[in-house]
Amino acid sequence: MSNVPFRKKTPSRRNITRSVTKYQDHKPDLEVDFYHRCGYCDASDQWRTTWYELDHFVPKGYLSTLSETSYCNLVYSCRSCNNAKRHKWPTQCEHLHHNDKEGFIDPCDAQYDKYFYRDDTGYIYHNGTDLGKWMYSALQLHKPRHKVLWAIDTLYHEINDINKMIHAIGGLRQIISANPDLVVKIDALKNNYIEYTASLAAYK
Ligand SMILES: [Zn+2]
Repeated sequence: MSNVPFRKKTPSRRNITRSVTKYQDHKPDLEVDFYHRCGYCDASDQWRTTWYELDHFVPKGYLSTLSETSYCNLVYSCRSCNNAKRHKWPTQCEHLHHNDKEGFIDPCDAQYDKYFYRDDTGYIYHNGTDLGKWMYSALQLHKPRHKVLWAIDTLYHEINDINKMIHAIGGLRQIISANPDLVVKIDALKNNYIEYTASLAAYK
C-alpha cells in the first residue's frame, strides 16, 4: 500500500470580526473557509449522516481573551470529531494549544497536515510523534467512518472524471469497443460506490 496525503487543501479562516449573537451564526462562513469539510478528519459534508457542527478549538471553559463567538476559534466539524474532542484541552490555557506531547494543533495550521497520512484505502495513521499519537486518539481517527467517507468521496470524483471523459469521446458506445478495460473499471467503481454508500448508516 502506498501513502496518500491526509487532505488536499488546508482550510483557512478569513479574518471575520463582525459580532454575532450566537456562534452558530458563523456557520455559513465556516462552511466556505473549511471547503465543506471537517477540520479534523477532512470528511466532506456531502456524505454526512448527521448535520455538521461548530467546535470551539479552545473549549469555552478555557477562554480568557477570546469569546464564545470569536470566529478565529471555531472549527467546522463532523459530529464524530466534535464529540470525540469535547472539552479535551490538556494545557488548560487559551494561549497554549499543546505542549508537544498533548493538546491540539489548529486544523487551519498547515502543520496539522504533517501529523497524519492515509493509506490508499483512506485509513488514517498518525506520524508516530507523541503529539500525533495523542491527537489521533483524542479525535478517534481510527474509526472506520473516516476510511469509508474518504473512499466515497474519492469514488465520487473518479466517477465524475470518467463521466466527463465519456461525454468528451461521444458516449459509452464508442468507448466499449475501443477500451473494454475502462468499462470494467467503471463497473467496479460503481459497485464500490454502492457498497460504501449503503454502509454509511453504520458510521454515524
Ligand atoms: Zn471529522
